Amino acid sequence: MKIRFLVFALALVSVPLFGQQTPQSIADAELPSLLTIYKDLHSHPELSTHEERSAAIVAKELKAAGCDVTERVGKYDKPGLTCFGVIGVMKNGDGPTVAIRTDLDALPVHEETGVPYASTVTTKNDAGQEVSVMHACGHDIHMSTFIGTARALGKLKDKWHGTIIFIGQPAEETVGGARALLKDGLYTRWPKPNYVLGLHDDAEIATGQIGVTEGYCYANVDSVDVTVRGVGGHGAYPHKTKDPVVLSAEMITAWQTIASRENNPIDPIVITVGSIHGGTKHNIISDEVKMQLTVRTYKQEVRDRVLIAIERIAKGIATTAGVSPDRAPIVQVEKDQYTPATYNNPELTKRVSAALKTSIGANNVIAKDPTMGGEDFSEYSLPDHSIPAFMFNVGAVDPAKVVESKKPGAPPLPSLHSSKFAPVPEPTIRTGLIGMTSAVLDLMKK
Ligand SMILES: [Zn+2]
Ligand SMILES: [Zn+2]
Repeated sequence: MKIRFLVFALALVSVPLFGQQTPQSIADAELPSLLTIYKDLHSHPELSTHEERSAAIVAKELKAAGCDVTERVGKYDKPGLTCFGVIGVMKNGDGPTVAIRTDLDALPVHEETGVPYASTVTTKNDAGQEVSVMHACGHDIHMSTFIGTARALGKLKDKWHGTIIFIGQPAEETVGGARALLKDGLYTRWPKPNYVLGLHDDAEIATGQIGVTEGYCYANVDSVDVTVRGVGGHGAYPHKTKDPVVLSAEMITAWQTIASRENNPIDPIVITVGSIHGGTKHNIISDEVKMQLTVRTYKQEVRDRVLIAIERIAKGIATTAGVSPDRAPIVQVEKDQYTPATYNNPELTKRVSAALKTSIGANNVIAKDPTMGGEDFSEYSLPDHSIPAFMFNVGAVDPAKVVESKKPGAPPLPSLHSSKFAPVPEPTIRTGLIGMTSAVLDLMKK
């Protein structure tokens, strides 16, 4: 009897006291303020490497949430460029170190969402052209969620111990932001994390849901420049030339056989020729053609093999056509534009997914297929994946629209980077905040 009473009494103690804060209650209380921040960020988007205003807002909010903040962190390869990285540190005694990342930048897209807080910003891009700017990838959702998560974790210090590193990363869209932070001592000037977490809004998943991918979720991204050199001349006398346009056409189709014939079909490869330029006029065979390729893979050995094959095939086709060795194609892999594949550590993914299911409901955590898109979030786990990292996808679409889009013949939903991509902010930020806060609490619980 006595024991039973004791168990009953202990159970009463463990029931949350009235008014005790939870990620859910904090999300509800903070939403109006976070929405104001979101709309402000949305209507003031900044291009990659120009995120000065956004970084200042993130820095101010991290300070207010209780972080020690360092601004202008990061070193770009390009000299003279200021890096607007923001690092906030929230300490709460001994314990694990967890890093959370948001990106800060927007895209050169002319917004066509029709929302009242739509961006009307225009600016000059780095090439000097006038462009519109829009948060078409939802990095404003990420920043608002990140600020909300910092506020929540600052209020829930009785539930966790250790150190949280909040990373505000510039230049995700152009790649180089994560690398710039690491180059500036992210893991030496600040504690090296045991885990790194990130989130991205999702243009296909309904709000209230979170999509999870275990293992590889984004691809290695390589940019390759190919210059095909021939011997130019009159369009009427092809026998006196080596036509680089015909050689390029052969290369474009032959490269596709790398994926279909040279590769194990269960290892995905994408080779896309996104740009091709050559010639000036109908009746002139040009001297050269320039092509720009994007090459996507997951595994390092597949990546190495594809890049070698692209060059081998290009040179082989030129040789077969009788182009002299001194006019062989020039194949250049743009090393500074490389993004490594993002690998969601399976153990961490399982652990955090369980925490997500508890916090937002098991039915709301859904499996998401990997994609061949790229994300420099991958940099934080280091090339050998020695720091377990996990990025999850927060649904940003009105659930009714998701249902509608699945009907036969229905038009597809606007994708990320579309001028019409308009996330539904309240439930997206709320779900992201609750999910990320619960994930951190699980990894850092006392
Ligand atoms: Zn993007
Ligand atoms: Zn993005």
